[in-house]
Amino acid sequence: MALIVQKYGGTSVGTVERIEAVADKVIETKKQGNQVVVVVSAMSGETDRLLSLAKDITSTPTPRELDVLLSTGEQTTIALLSMALEEKGHPAVSYTGGQVHIRTDNEHNKARIVDIEGAKVHKQLAEGKVVVIAGFQGIDEDGNITTLGRGGSDTTAVAMAAALKADECRIYTDVDGVYTADPRVVSDAQRLPRITYEEMLEMASLGSKVLQIRSVEFARKYNVNLRVLSSFEDGPGTLITDEDENMEAALISGIAHNKDEAKLTIVGVPDMPGIASQILGPIADANIEVDMIVQNVGLDNKTDFTFTVNRNDYEKTMAILKKTADAIGAKEVSGDNRIVKISVVGVGMRSHAGIANIMFKALADEGINIQMISTSEIKVSVVVAENYLELGVRTLHAAFGLENGAMSK
Ligand code: ASP
Ligand code: MG
Repeated sequence: MALIVQKYGGTSVGTVERIEAVADKVIETKKQGNQVVVVVSAMSGETDRLLSLAKDITSTPTPRELDVLLSTGEQTTIALLSMALEEKGHPAVSYTGGQVHIRTDNEHNKARIVDIEGAKVHKQLAEGKVVVIAGFQGIDEDGNITTLGRGGSDTTAVAMAAALKADECRIYTDVDGVYTADPRVVSDAQRLPRITYEEMLEMASLGSKVLQIRSVEFARKYNVNLRVLSSFEDGPGTLITDEDENMEAALISGIAHNKDEAKLTIVGVPDMPGIASQILGPIADANIEVDMIVQNVGLDNKTDFTFTVNRNDYEKTMAILKKTADAIGAKEVSGDNRIVKISVVGVGMRSHAGIANIMFKALADEGINIQMISTSEIKVSVVVAENYLELGVRTLHAAFGLENGAMSK
């Protein structure tokens, strides 16, 4: 008998009819001889609705109280789903995060799971029940309700699967898997049957927002087989798993893109030790995450320094950078928030030269100017003007033959 954790997101439980359809899927899985634990999100739009209620009262809600409020969304769906299961003749029991001891730290609104006690859940499963658990929430050492950050139900599901030593964690969502590129951009993008944790982390952080990134990190750490699949159509979805020596690693698995980018440049900085830290220190202190960094020393012993941040942080970063420029005697500061990052991702790249070159040539042939480049073992990323997003992604998808699925070596 296998133990399966299933997670259903907001759209999958968005109406009473859909909750009933979820109950049918759960029952089907159980009838196949499995034990089933279900993790659910709030009904679609509910978390936003609760947030806006809070905002109607104050622009700075107390983080603790916000968690008390937001956790009610998931509490509603666990109860409704359990009722639907019972109504269809299948014993079920619902639990909030606190009730199954999803222990977190006390960082309200973005808490991290530190421990889960699986004994109670195992006991209920052994009695033949379906266990329905509220996603996105936990409880801190002092018994306060915490939440895990937007999209956190994915992480609850994976953490639950790890704690229960489940055979598989299935994330049901409104897409039927992970694709070689965003299907809204590339019409012949292909579903990937499997992808490694590492590749998924790149794809997720680069904008293929299928899963909360943290859930993939969790899955990698605890070796949880994670499957993304559609809650509306049958199909195998995409299995996110370890690199398997028996299977040939894909050279290129996909083209990811990220629209939430902005770049800032500080020009004519004196070239001396400590400059990078003087520029980036105040930005880090303001809790702004820097992604790509390019530094180049010119002939006049002056340095130009360019980096990217999330587009939402653009104005704030610009203000900080202007102050720094005055303090260190830089010549000028400029920026552009109409850029995008496009990346070619594949674990097989590790042992294969020449990928970057194919990429640059393909973009050049389309007259697309590359503004910045960065590489890691398993990806090459470029920054280009925003209006080249679609053309760039399509061009690269074709250049690597991804209309036939992942490119093998
Ligand atoms: N309900 C929460 C959100 O909307 C958590 C989740 O759905 O994963 O972000
Ligand atoms: Mg989600």
